[in-house]
Amino acid sequence: MPRTTRSQKRPPDAVHARRPGKQRTRALDNPFIRVLLAAAAMLLIVLVCIASTSLMPKIDPALLEPTPESGTPTPVPTPSPEPTITPTPAIYAPFGAQYGHGGENLIPETPTPEPTPTPTPSPVPTPSPVTYTTLRKGANGPSVVRMQEALIALGYLDGSADGDFGSGTQRAVIQFQAVNGLSADGIAGAKTLSLLYSGSALDASEAPEMDYLILVNRENRLDDHYAPTDLVEIADMIPESVLKVKYKGTQANRVAAEALYRMLEDAIDEGITVWQVSSAYRGYKDQQALVDQSVANYKKNNPDWSRDRCLSATYQTVAPAGTSEHMTGLAFDITVPGVSFTGTKQQKWLHEHCYEYGFVVRFTEDKQDKTGFLAESWHFRYVGVQAAQVMTYNNWCLEEYVEKMK
Ligand SMILES: [Zn+2]
Repeated sequence: MPRTTRSQKRPPDAVHARRPGKQRTRALDNPFIRVLLAAAAMLLIVLVCIASTSLMPKIDPALLEPTPESGTPTPVPTPSPEPTITPTPAIYAPFGAQYGHGGENLIPETPTPEPTPTPTPSPVPTPSPVTYTTLRKGANGPSVVRMQEALIALGYLDGSADGDFGSGTQRAVIQFQAVNGLSADGIAGAKTLSLLYSGSALDASEAPEMDYLILVNRENRLDDHYAPTDLVEIADMIPESVLKVKYKGTQANRVAAEALYRMLEDAIDEGITVWQVSSAYRGYKDQQALVDQSVANYKKNNPDWSRDRCLSATYQTVAPAGTSEHMTGLAFDITVPGVSFTGTKQQKWLHEHCYEYGFVVRFTEDKQDKTGFLAESWHFRYVGVQAAQVMTYNNWCLEEYVEKMK
């Protein structure tokens, strides 16, 4: 107390300028005041904070852009467009729903998924009954082109689709029919064409390998579905200077025709010239036509004969359809134009040499009981060189060879 009295008496001067501080210090010594001050300070801080957040003016983001250091005006970056929020109404509850009434049925359980765009199905052609125009040799036009393209795609026809139904196309159709179990007549009717375009037909690579030892006789018949593989037109392979083809378009197996070509060239080299092929490949229908023609001839010459008698007379010399090995494309009737073949130098040369080229004289007098056919000096059958040699050296007919080598 005396000190307080003393200070009140002293005049204020520079020396005692700090005295009031001392007095404040003393006031702060009072704990009550200190608490009060602290509380007031905290209150002030809180107020300042509130005021600064609520009253602070919004700052233009552009003002926050760094001020360009240099004077060159920097291009103002175009503000990227605000991401547009497409309201998905399906997710929001409709009015009233949040109160538990009036909207329940409107709230989808799950957000409806955006309907996935199902690819619009290309109009499926309604399977109207397809009608095919039968195509045969001599036909032409777009329908032939389409058929040829399908045959080419399946490996039955080489080259390009020219729209002309010629021999090559006919062979391809026969091949296609044979491999696919259709009647191999070379005429593309509805059955053939619908299978050809079906996408499920067998292709040429699925054709069975040619069996050069195939046995065809009255006991081993071929049905009308049979068609040999790899037929060629003989005149396309062997020049006319070597061989005359009696009937235009006559076909044969390619390998057999090549062997025939080599054989006749060698014969010509030895001075044996003038050759003709009277027949080679004949299909089932061709053979049936021969039978019918023969029956008609017998009937014409013998009006009192029954049909059965005409038929049995025919079968003495003409093989019933399905029993002729001409159907294989491996047999050739080789002749000399205008003369009987038996006894000619051509016949003698061939009988002596044909085995060297893979051929045998198929029907001989001493094997008639085994072959079922009368002797034919002009009928040569390709069996391959090895088999031909064995058969010739052993004097076996094909029936014997197949029987013994089986
Ligand atoms: Zn013959």
